Amino acid sequence: ALSIGIVGLPNVGKSTLFNALSEASNAEAANYPFCTIEPNVGMVPVPDDRLPQLAKLYGSKRILPTTLEFVDIAGLVRGASKGEGLGNQFLSHIRQVDAICHVLRCFEDPNVIHVDGSVDPARDAEVIDTELALKDLESVEKRLQRVQKDAKAGGKVGEQAKVEAAVLEKVRDGINEGKTVRRIALTEEERALLRDLFLLTNKPVLYVANVAEGQLSGAEDDPLVAKARAVAAQDGAPLIAICADVESQIQQLPPEDRAGFLEAAGLVEPGLNKLVRAGYKLLQLVTYITAGEQETRAWTIHEGWKAPQAAGVIHTDFERGFIKAEVCDWRDLVKFGSEAALREKGLLRIEGKEYVVKDGDVMHFRFNV
Ligand code: GDP
Repeated sequence: ALSIGIVGLPNVGKSTLFNALSEASNAEAANYPFCTIEPNVGMVPVPDDRLPQLAKLYGSKRILPTTLEFVDIAGLVRGASKGEGLGNQFLSHIRQVDAICHVLRCFEDPNVIHVDGSVDPARDAEVIDTELALKDLESVEKRLQRVQKDAKAGGKVGEQAKVEAAVLEKVRDGINEGKTVRRIALTEEERALLRDLFLLTNKPVLYVANVAEGQLSGAEDDPLVAKARAVAAQDGAPLIAICADVESQIQQLPPEDRAGFLEAAGLVEPGLNKLVRAGYKLLQLVTYITAGEQETRAWTIHEGWKAPQAAGVIHTDFERGFIKAEVCDWRDLVKFGSEAALREKGLLRIEGKEYVVKDGDVMHFRFNV
């Protein structure tokens, strides 16, 4: 499963946010009897309004949302790349995640000390990015040494090594100028050459501005949030302002009390919903749905996957024996009420092996066993 690592300096609210996410997943725990959750890993349901609507049409007994994995990565401090704090331990955790959720503290609270004595999301972001980039520099230099040796060889191997060395030098110089890898101008081909280095600052990123409850309604004009937004803008990354404390409280409420609480806090929906959706998009994931009397269920695939590969998420046999898929759009279903009605209107399509599955497709697969 694809995962998102939550990073940030100590006392910015990472654990509070992670706990809120874990509580959101516990609410669904009954639906995931076989899912063992490690202390710092949570499988979080992806909020999806379409599912209850479809479950109603099909009379499904249960609804199974799809999930996204979040990992709480503690221990990042100034000097971490040199072994300060938990040092290198956490770096291997970051290496393994597919995207990064960078939490920036935007709340003032004299009772919660800041490691640098004041609240400044731009400075904090730079501290974290510097540690991660220094680690990337090590990886790049190590690879560069090897590639430079290969570059002395003749023929194809040597040519390829020269190309790679040029890219690695560009990245090394960029990091030495204080840039993260994602901020270094590279072509898609150049970036592809870096893929197997799993560089920490080359991963997709989104930012969370963790604000105090009182800042929630004015988050648009808040000067600290504006600072955090400027950081995100440099990466062309999304920024979500949430109050981790409030999110945690929301998740602890019984579902029937949530609407009132949200309204009182000036929220339309929990900030976690926005965060999970943004993470899903960042990883370029899309959802297709299967529905029937037993269950309405959401499945995660990558953008651009074709029908057999999508079927393989349910079971590898579905991919191997794929014959065809019956597909309709969830909106058509809700509009016309049943598959039978869609069949009459020609809105229930038969698709083959080359069909690229779209977000919101409702699928039935036909396959050989
Ligand atoms: P971490 O070290 O980044 O994991 O930070 P924690 O989640 O442990 O939070 C550190 C402290 O900040 C805890 O005492 C939290 O209760 C507090 N905290 C977290 N989020 C907020 C917030 O939005 N507002 C306020 N006032 N305090 C918060």
